[in-house]
Amino acid sequence: MAPNPPNYKMYAAGSVAFVVSFVTFKLLRFTLSKRQTEPADLLDAVKKLEGLEDQNVRTAFSKARYQKALKKKNGEDFDVVFVGGGLGTLACAAALARTGKKCLLLEQGDQLGGGAHVFSVPGGFEFETGVHYLGNDIKMEKLLNFLSCGRLVLDGIGTPIPDAIFQASSDQLDMAEGQPAKGAEKTSMMYDQIVIDGENFPFVAGKENLRTMLKARFPAQTDHVKIDAFFKVLDDFSGTKVQEQVTMFFRLKCVSLLSMWLRDKLQRLLCGSFLKYAHMTSEDMLRHCDIDPESKLGMVVLGQYGDAGMRPDKASALIQLGVMLHYMEGSTYPRGGSGAIPRKLNNVILAAGGKSFVHARCTELLFNDSSTPTCIGVKVNGVTDIFAKTIVSGIGVGRTYRDLIATHVDKRISAMAVQPLERIYKKPENCENSVAFIFLFVGLDVTNQPSSERDDRNHNTWYYPDFPDGLDGYTKMEQRVYGKDGEGAGEPWSRPMPYFAASGSSKDSIYSEKFPGKKTVVILSQCPWDWVKEWQDIPKAEREKNSDYQKFKQQTEDFLMENCFRKTFPKLEKYVVHKSIGTPLSTNTWLGTDEGECYGQGLTPQHLHLPDMIPTSNVKNLFMTGQDVCTLGVSGAMNAGYITANAIAGFGCWENAILQGDLVLSLGLPGII
Ligand SMILES: Cc1cc2nc3c(=O)[nH]c(=O)nc-3n(C[C@H](O)[C@H](O)[C@H](O)COP(=O)(O)OP(=O)(O)OC[C@H]3O[C@@H](n4cnc5c(N)ncnc54)[C@H](O)[C@@H]3O)c2cc1C
Repeated sequence: MAPNPPNYKMYAAGSVAFVVSFVTFKLLRFTLSKRQTEPADLLDAVKKLEGLEDQNVRTAFSKARYQKALKKKNGEDFDVVFVGGGLGTLACAAALARTGKKCLLLEQGDQLGGGAHVFSVPGGFEFETGVHYLGNDIKMEKLLNFLSCGRLVLDGIGTPIPDAIFQASSDQLDMAEGQPAKGAEKTSMMYDQIVIDGENFPFVAGKENLRTMLKARFPAQTDHVKIDAFFKVLDDFSGTKVQEQVTMFFRLKCVSLLSMWLRDKLQRLLCGSFLKYAHMTSEDMLRHCDIDPESKLGMVVLGQYGDAGMRPDKASALIQLGVMLHYMEGSTYPRGGSGAIPRKLNNVILAAGGKSFVHARCTELLFNDSSTPTCIGVKVNGVTDIFAKTIVSGIGVGRTYRDLIATHVDKRISAMAVQPLERIYKKPENCENSVAFIFLFVGLDVTNQPSSERDDRNHNTWYYPDFPDGLDGYTKMEQRVYGKDGEGAGEPWSRPMPYFAASGSSKDSIYSEKFPGKKTVVILSQCPWDWVKEWQDIPKAEREKNSDYQKFKQQTEDFLMENCFRKTFPKLEKYVVHKSIGTPLSTNTWLGTDEGECYGQGLTPQHLHLPDMIPTSNVKNLFMTGQDVCTLGVSGAMNAGYITANAIAGFGCWENAILQGDLVLSLGLPGII
């Protein structure tokens, strides 16, 4: 008798049933295992810390204090240790604290916050350093609300100006010079004022308002076609398709087991519409809309390019469009100033049993000696070893590898482990630093100021100097002012400089309760590293006594007062009681940077694809966060923190890529992203 033919159909059905049950089982197990619970009474504990928050962001590290903190935890290590206390690590730690994780933050500076930190000077002034405004951005608000347990308030800011001003086709109408519009029939909120070659361009809340302003100022039909093409790009970029791809792009960054090659291929395959913009420079994006970047229209459209951290011929269009959309519906500011963000997030970390220290410089990462490099802790200030199962660095991807890994590779890790480490720490060298700024901080006593001299402007001014030979765009402007690519810059302050001016005290709705009769102004201008590098090796205390450095600072102060402060705030000089200068060397001190770069690695089209700019790393137990991992800015750094928290909480796996779960949802809360 002939044997029965094999029943292929049955085999196939059996295999399919097996695969389906296996996947269902895995997905079900994943869903159940990822349910999180919040510590009971977390919110009450957060509220109790509110009177102490200013001192809690400045607890100095000592071995004795650290051991006391451990004792409170019955000698157990912290769940997660963070290198750096910027917004990226604070956001990551606060998100994990909401699931009951006990986090330890180690910050080298004298307070938490990184770019969001503030400083006080005698006489009753508190100055913001690296956060001048936030967007009226619902996703960011939801995230901040989650991270702060709902304790951070954002107030809308901006100067109301008559609609007639931004709708006027000529610039004959005066801009509201520091005074909010009174009696005008209809007003809108101006958050940024762009001044090019003496002409004012108000950026007011609302996409259609921006379009109206641009069309009124550039009335030629040919320009209207270009403006509409630009708004088509904005609409496309902010549309559902691209925004879903943005989420997918960053979700794929989280999936830890993907090889770099496969991650890159999947991102290119699934996120093409988003990557189209990420791969262009800001200037290319303008050309795509037929707008010449050297024309006045091109310069107005890119008027906020300083927020993108790089020249528009280098920055990715992703960040330029992202910045514009972030502020498109207007702008906000934290109640209590930019320092309120680190204070409120730190409260959540402490309330969940965590701890944070300043003056705690991490000098190396600790590894166990195995063929798979495994991070087991950090060394603080060169002497104290701190151990944990999970270590997160928020000091920049390149710097983590260079400062905390590479220099210790030989003595700490076996030869087998060296190769993958070398590969990862060398990669970020392909990048370029973002811009460095020089700061003038001005404190005013306006106690006896008559109302006729008040200046209640609540917006930022971006001022671009006169162009004697005609407009030729920001790239050539920068090359003229700072030299080619920042090198060979001319004598300091020998040429007119672009600058940014803002008053933090006017934006903080409770500043006058804390500091009655006081007003602050901050002026920023770019600073070529060449101008200050001769003093880089002198310790800070000695530098402050160095006569050449002091001469440079005095020259800077005189220039910025004469050419920037007086121009923007003509009625206020007689009320000035405090002036101080911060240089890129100051930024190196308070942000631990190399050349005063204010936004980490520059966000070039190449940056986004560098395989190491991800929350996970080739080193076991070591995670990355902060602006390098996502995008720059408060929103970018905090999103990076949230992404990393998701990767740590176990959402960086293929099951999650299918189910699209995340940390907030696993707590039973409404979704954020
Ligand atoms: C002048 C300026 C203006 C800005 N304006 C705005 C704005 O208006 N709106 C906006 O959204 N964004 C703005 N930004 C950007 C925003 O502040 C940053 O993008 C954001 O704060 C970056 O957060 P981060 O945590 O990634 O990095 P950082 O803030 O740089 O934090 C890194 C932290 O790590 C610490 N650190 C470094 N090395 C070590 C070490 N070895 N051990 C321990 N600690 C270490 C540093 O001291 C720092 O505190 C501005 C930035 C600057 C500088």
